[in-house]
Amino acid sequence: MLTSICGINWGDEGKGKMVDLLSEGYDYVCRYQGGNNAGHTVINERGKFILNLLPSGILRENVVNVLGPGMAIDIRHLTEEIGRLREKGVKITPENLKISDRAIITMPYHVLLDCLEEDRLADQKFGSTRRGIAPVYADKYMKKAFRMGELLDPDSLFERAKGIVEWKNLTVAGGYGHAPVTAEEVVAYFKTYGLPLKDHICDTGLLLDRANRAGKKIMFEAQLGALRDIDFGIYPYTSSSSTIAAYAPIGAGVPHLKLDKSIGVMKAYSTCVGEGPFTAEYFGEKAEKLRAAGGEYGAATGRPRRVGPFDVVASSYGIRCQGADEIALTKLDILSAYEEIEVCTAYELDGKIIREFPYPGALDRCKPVFEKVKGWHTDISKCRKKEQLPREALAYISYLEEACGCNIVYVAVGAERDACIKLK
Ligand code: GDP
Repeated sequence: MLTSICGINWGDEGKGKMVDLLSEGYDYVCRYQGGNNAGHTVINERGKFILNLLPSGILRENVVNVLGPGMAIDIRHLTEEIGRLREKGVKITPENLKISDRAIITMPYHVLLDCLEEDRLADQKFGSTRRGIAPVYADKYMKKAFRMGELLDPDSLFERAKGIVEWKNLTVAGGYGHAPVTAEEVVAYFKTYGLPLKDHICDTGLLLDRANRAGKKIMFEAQLGALRDIDFGIYPYTSSSSTIAAYAPIGAGVPHLKLDKSIGVMKAYSTCVGEGPFTAEYFGEKAEKLRAAGGEYGAATGRPRRVGPFDVVASSYGIRCQGADEIALTKLDILSAYEEIEVCTAYELDGKIIREFPYPGALDRCKPVFEKVKGWHTDISKCRKKEQLPREALAYISYLEEACGCNIVYVAVGAERDACIKLK
């Protein structure tokens, strides 16, 4: 059984919570793309955890967690994240955490380049999380990235490091005028942060293939959402990896396997971190109210998120990109603050009403068309059964199902693990 859990929107949909909940009964949870620019928040009986690199299955005793070959791993960050979790009593061993030998390594110079470029761009910046993700994926495709498998023998890396550093300094020192990077510091870095991870490093493709043959259940956990996908998102304001479900078997190292189920996590309203077009965006007091109600501040960066009502146009596109068989609708409880709930049902582009998500270049010219539906205006955070939800909340769910042509199976009404209702 292969299931993916992915984001329908711009990220921050609550994937961590849903993976934590739905991974019960799964044997493997695998991250397959991106790096520590994610911030998956999980709240359960063990406490509150923010996971950047580790799969959300790490909080379950019997789950084997995998960082797949499609990921970019900041080894210092990973070491610190493992340390933070261990301090809270989470067991992390080479048995329950496996790291792909093919995953690329985010180096300090990638983080540096990310910051130097964002600063150079000033008010034209992309709104990068400044965690080095774009520079390291760029190096991957230049075939100049280091991979986890190389950490098994850092001394042999010196010559290769010299060549890469020489090339890197053309940009770091030559372009940006920053102090150059040295091969010695690269190798020393690998010894400090890489060697201690060596017992976790393996061919995760082989591991997952064997697990699948043995009838084990595998869950793939995406980072960010469809609209941040490098190919299908709001390029260039996207992440640098493939966030879509179809990429999960590839980024996990099992490209020959097909998903049995794609579960899309979709938020009951819209949020977006960073720059780029966000058609349904609220401003001023309207935005303040929704941001405060939803606590919309980035888990990885603390940045206030841009907010708006549910966007049918963008979400329908996200559902299509993710091939979502089932939807988990999250944060429905936040809309309890409203007597009437606005929904963006179409865009106006150059005087025409459109309902299909356009080529991203046209988004700057799109204006939102809002409709209003009746709210329930009462606390639903304690509801645990479909029958306990107010009629208007059920009507809102049906409205979204119809508008987006999707199948909403789960509804989350709070951050805690049990604050979720299975509708079907
Ligand atoms: P992710 O990156 O998709 O995992 O999402 P984030 O962790 O960035 O953001 C989701 C935030 O909403 C976290 O703080 C979660 O604890 C919280 N959350 C998730 N689902 C719900 C929900 O249904 N209701 C409420 N109130 N909070 C939720």
